[in-house]
Amino acid sequence: MEILTLKVGDILTLKKEHPCGCDKFEIIRLGSDVKIKCTHCARDLELPREKLEKKIRSVNS
Ligand SMILES: [Zn+2]
Repeated sequence: MEILTLKVGDILTLKKEHPCGCDKFEIIRLGSDVKIKCTHCARDLELPREKLEKKIRSVNS
């Protein structure tokens, strides 16, 4: 399985869109929980890293 290297400021394309219709999220904070922000509506959300990694389609640093 591919190991993901995530950095604060990376833009993630997720498999599931945000309710606003955007699928690109910026990493705000890394840890066992990762905080990401929707690049369209600027709402932030926090989720366990393990859960987030399963949702990632691609990473654009
Ligand atoms: Zn959004």
